[in-house]
Amino acid sequence: MEFSSKLLEKAVGEMSQLPGIGKRTALRLVLHLLKQPKDQTRFLSEALLGMRENIKFCKKCHNISDVEICEICANDKRNHELICLVEDVRDVMAIENTGQYRGIYHVLGGKISPIDGVGPSQLTITSLVDKVNSGCIAEIIFALSSTMEGDTTNFYIYKQIKDTSVVLSTIARGISVGDELEYADEVTLGRSILQRIPFEIALKK
Ligand SMILES: [Zn+2]
Repeated sequence: MEFSSKLLEKAVGEMSQLPGIGKRTALRLVLHLLKQPKDQTRFLSEALLGMRENIKFCKKCHNISDVEICEICANDKRNHELICLVEDVRDVMAIENTGQYRGIYHVLGGKISPIDGVGPSQLTITSLVDKVNSGCIAEIIFALSSTMEGDTTNFYIYKQIKDTSVVLSTIARGISVGDELEYADEVTLGRSILQRIPFEIALKK
């Protein structure tokens, strides 16, 4: 792509680093910004920078938060002995949207995926095992997507905590195999949490 301006080229180059944004789309977005008032670009830049500089991860559940302990973990009315194990913030949002879940979460930060170079040490698994060993957890609901990576991650964690007194369950699969949680409709997802099944039963399937 030949550019008439180095500034334009640089903006397009940065924009096209984003997933799913090719050079052509990046050019379209940049040209769009050029046609808008300058303020719009400033607000966008400030929102992105502010997020990047100031965002925190909750010290308890590792979810994205503006404060050290997120709203969910800080809420006394929730059941702190019940943990729902999810991949990332999108799953927390999806489950919260159902209005059916009153426990807290543990956000892994991804799934074990050798192809993508993600190993167990890059996830918050140690922190989860520590919570289990602390004795203050009654039940863990495994709610990772049922992809190969999700199953691998589930099993890796299961092996580390299966000999404790913690009840291990998994969300019932009204959600079909391979579906990502965030795409499940709220009613189905809500029901699949309420009608969860023992983890061992899911393993034998
Ligand atoms: Zn939290």
